[in-house]
Amino acid sequence: MPERIIYLDHAATTALDRRVLEAMMPYLTTEYGNASSIYTLGRHAMQAIDGAREQVADMLNCRPTEIAFVGCGSESDNLAIKGMAFASKNKGNHLITSSIEHHAVLHTCQYLERFGFKTTYLPVDEYGSIDPDAVGRAITDQTVLVSIMFANNEVGTIEPIAEIGRICRAKKVPLHVDAVQAGGAIPIDVIALNVDMLSISAHKFYGPKGVGMLYVRQGMRILPQLQGGSQERGRRAGTENVASIVGAAAALRLAYEEMEQEAPRLIALRDRLIEGLLTIPASRLTGHPTQRLPNNASFCFEGIEGESILLNLDLLGIAASSGSACTSGSVDPSHVLLAMGLSPEWARGSLRLTLGRENTEADIEKLISVLPGIITKLRMLGG
Ligand SMILES: *Cc1c(COP(=O)(O)O)cnc(C)c1O
Repeated sequence: MPERIIYLDHAATTALDRRVLEAMMPYLTTEYGNASSIYTLGRHAMQAIDGAREQVADMLNCRPTEIAFVGCGSESDNLAIKGMAFASKNKGNHLITSSIEHHAVLHTCQYLERFGFKTTYLPVDEYGSIDPDAVGRAITDQTVLVSIMFANNEVGTIEPIAEIGRICRAKKVPLHVDAVQAGGAIPIDVIALNVDMLSISAHKFYGPKGVGMLYVRQGMRILPQLQGGSQERGRRAGTENVASIVGAAAALRLAYEEMEQEAPRLIALRDRLIEGLLTIPASRLTGHPTQRLPNNASFCFEGIEGESILLNLDLLGIAASSGSACTSGSVDPSHVLLAMGLSPEWARGSLRLTLGRENTEADIEKLISVLPGIITKLRMLGG
């Protein structure tokens, strides 16, 4: 194994930033109070949570009372969708989502189908873009929720959320946005976007694993999905993970502070990578050519297995992904790539490279120098 791993899987997770760890340290050691306790140690914990909530609200442009801290991005998606669906049972039983959502959304909708809900899974075009007008056309008088992702985790396509938000607001149907990939990467303003609920997760922007956030617009009623104490204004029972909540806010603040510098740097690296890898025969870029996350370069190579590429890269100390982390290990081609109209032969040969803070130009050049040989070798071996 080479000494330094070239980590190109930032869409799966990111390393905890040292500065974030420092902000968390007191709450992992001396400040261990339960935020519900009335003595000083407990009040310190509550003050830390309140401060974190204010910071997150400030960055998303909402009120602190509209932010709930939860256990992860998946839980945030679950709470938004189940919480709204079950709270709206007397209004209707129809949900709208897209065919390229994360499984935290897709499997939640499928679960709700067992309770009498019906889901419309909207198609996408060849770039993975959702047509806002198709959202409008799918809305019926039975629709209780639309859930559309901000940016796709596999191919990086950024969806027209502001336009979708405008349409949903006009039809008075709540919109939930899975912004877990977008959080910390591009600016998010819940007012400008007209969204009613929005999910992010700290480990995708150099914060700790195991803490998510859900924005719920004031006046929206959702049913809690975890019963117990009245933490998080009754939305999520359980003693607060103070250190991680503090870390999530610190990580988001750093991401916002550095975004103006970091996003153009990543875009330049991404575009160099795309240019370099598309010289490989029978290769193609997946996702939208311009409306895509600054750090996402994803490809398909005809006639080979993505898993084989990953194993060859791993031998060189390069960490990458094929489709989403959750589906790797299974041989099924990605539901996202199939929804974009790729044939299974192309979709099986997918490679997702997602860049981040530690990556340099040298990392990119290394990949451009080794990948063509790996693809040629695998094709000679017959996949
Ligand atoms: C990672 C991810 C999730 C799940 O977040 P966790 O914190 O890992 O549970 C949900 N949606 C998208 C788009 C993601 O990328």
